[in-house]
Amino acid sequence: MNGQKARCAECRTEIEIPSSYAHGDHVKCATCGTRHKVVRTGEAVRLVLADVGPLKETLRQYEAQQNRLEAELRHARASFGVGVNGIGIGVAYAIWQVAFKEGQIGVPLLWEAVAVAVVSGVLLELANYFFLAKRKAMSRLSQEIEEVEAEARAVQQKIREASRV
Ligand SMILES: [Zn+2]
Repeated sequence: MNGQKARCAECRTEIEIPSSYAHGDHVKCATCGTRHKVVRTGEAVRLVLADVGPLKETLRQYEAQQNRLEAELRHARASFGVGVNGIGIGVAYAIWQVAFKEGQIGVPLLWEAVAVAVVSGVLLELANYFFLAKRKAMSRLSQEIEEVEAEARAVQQKIREASRV
């Protein structure tokens, strides 16, 4: 009787599973040496990892990485807007100062306007730059967290499958 074929959970090489191998029997991948357990459901046959130790270790690493990224994201969120507020206050101060000076000393209005335009322009440009940089960092972190979560879910799924046999 011909054996069935299933793919190695590690390297995806096809492994021949003789029909004498029952559900729960161990089979080793000839290519990478990974040990598997045979899973038989009706006519179908699948292979799951025999040793989930390394998977659990990988999962722990993902979880640690996820925690690190989330802490970084919280930090980025917490400091977000502080710089923008500072810039706003700076601009308000500059405007107030110009108005105050004009009332006091009467410096030509044109120069006042130019100074305010240049100063607030530079400040707004800076604010914009930092705002975008921070937002970019935040979306990059969110993206990384999603990726790690997806990886962790895939590993958890493998562990669950392997533990059922
Ligand atoms: Zn293999």
